[in-house]
Amino acid sequence: MSEEPCVICGRPVTAEMKPFCSKRCKNVDLQRWLGGHYRVQTDEEPDPGEPIPIDPENS
Ligand SMILES: [Zn+2]
Repeated sequence: MSEEPCVICGRPVTAEMKPFCSKRCKNVDLQRWLGGHYRVQTDEEPDPGEPIPIDPENS
């Protein structure tokens, strides 16, 4: 079995803190969430009529 690295620092994750290596990294991730500059890919489709925020030619 191969453990995925911590999404924050790249160290091996622990079972308790997965997908993080430590509570500290978990908090770092939480802070990013609260900071509003952390995007997560989801499988959800965008709502119809909702403008797509990513537009490289217009940014
Ligand atoms: Zn970490």
